[in-house]
Amino acid sequence: MNVRRQVSMVFHLDKCIGCHTCTVACKNLWTDRKGAEYMWWNNVETKPGTGYPTQWENQSKYQGGWEYNRKTGRITLKHQGKLGTLTNIFYNPNLPEMDDYYTPWTYQYRELFEAAKIDDQPTARPISMVTGEPVDIEAGPNWDDDLSGSPLYAANDINLYKLTEEQREKLLDVERMVFFYLPRICNHCVNPACAAACPSGAIYKRGEDGIVLIDQEKCRGWRMCVTACPYKKTFYNWNTGKSEKCILCFPRLESGQAPACFHSCVGRIRYLGVVLYDAEKIPGAVKVDNWELVEKQRELILDPHDPEVIAGAKANGIGDEWIKAAQKSPVYKFVKEWQIALPLHAEFRTLPMLFYIPPLLPVMAFNKNGQYETAGEDIFADMEHYRLPMRYMASLFSAGNVPLIEDVYRKLMAVRIFMRSQEVDEYSDDKVQAALKRANMTAEEAEAIHKLTSLPTFEDRFVLPPYQRESEHAGNPFESMLDPLSRRGETGFGFSLVPKRGL
Ligand code: SF4
Ligand code: SF4
Repeated sequence: MNVRRQVSMVFHLDKCIGCHTCTVACKNLWTDRKGAEYMWWNNVETKPGTGYPTQWENQSKYQGGWEYNRKTGRITLKHQGKLGTLTNIFYNPNLPEMDDYYTPWTYQYRELFEAAKIDDQPTARPISMVTGEPVDIEAGPNWDDDLSGSPLYAANDINLYKLTEEQREKLLDVERMVFFYLPRICNHCVNPACAAACPSGAIYKRGEDGIVLIDQEKCRGWRMCVTACPYKKTFYNWNTGKSEKCILCFPRLESGQAPACFHSCVGRIRYLGVVLYDAEKIPGAVKVDNWELVEKQRELILDPHDPEVIAGAKANGIGDEWIKAAQKSPVYKFVKEWQIALPLHAEFRTLPMLFYIPPLLPVMAFNKNGQYETAGEDIFADMEHYRLPMRYMASLFSAGNVPLIEDVYRKLMAVRIFMRSQEVDEYSDDKVQAALKRANMTAEEAEAIHKLTSLPTFEDRFVLPPYQRESEHAGNPFESMLDPLSRRGETGFGFSLVPKRGL
């Protein structure tokens, strides 16, 4: 066992109201700079939809993430491996282009005040923030905001391709239109493709908290990370000639403050805590078929109450405060204990450390005759009569494993049915017991999930020990965490999760 720590987050999608406050907080703090105008380290997408940059999930187009070869038992970067990059360092054809993001623009506000006296009202024309020339606005970072249920935008969502023709048609029916919000930041992955692809060795994962950073001194602007990140969460700054990404507000974390996106979140959908994981299990967690990926990623995360894990953590320089924080971690509860938070697109095999509790909306207010109905007998439909097919949700959150996402929905529904029976006396005892049994859940568990979902204090949602990089680093045998797969030459560039000392 090789115990590591990771600062990790859970986003509870039922609570996201799509207000974009998180996005604006992040923008104001980190990317309100020349060359970073088009960057949104935090963005909120509407699903079904194509997101930002457009169709980022389409790896046939962008070639991001890892590929598993079942025959050889190896995983390799989809874009190109070590040798490929060295021999083709100037060849990077799968980068998103400006049109895939959008042209950042502002308005000629000055015209409103300084225009010559004319008969017509002066206007503030949109101008490109890159060229300074007038532009026709045709896209933006949240262009399809709230419109994704409409055929115009939803039809191009790559996750819909997995549905049958009939399911797609039904979904795009005006009567059935349905959407939810998906906030996204860098996942601070345990097997980050961005780091493995970097020819300059500029990307590293911090030993003390698992945050993935780009060293601005070392970055040479090759942009291999931009191609390799399947979530498109590294960005090229055309002004500095370097790549940049979300830093999980580490200066705020080190001074005991929550990240800006977390702190400003209106829906209080965000939870942040520490998880301990076993680095030895990383190869086994990514070299499996898609349907096993989520299960294996759960296995990677260790029980912080287990004496053997505690001993392993201490042996690796992880202090008592961190172990206590891991024991109180809301992330551990949602991901491992209750198993209702899932990684986004686990099939990219980067082991993302940001998890999502899927929204209940797909199974709500839809009756057995296939009609939308809020005043029906039961607010929850059977899973066979969903508004949004489970296959779609599985494509996002369980690498296509439909039974696994159905299990999560059974749990989420059981919590709601249980709480409604307590609060509004809507369900018979038999029905409540049946729902709990179907979800393999106790009444106590349902109450605990409800409490952390609906009534958490800030201290319940943000559980992190006070720390400073200097002191953490001094006692830490991991100068940077590097990927054991890459050490065996399977992947990237000297990025290994194995401790440097003694190997
Ligand atoms: Fe790297 Fe993962 Fe973040 Fe992408 S999401 S930039 S692969 S750490
Ligand atoms: Fe959703 Fe919170 Fe962001 Fe608002 S601030 S869009 S509720 S994640």
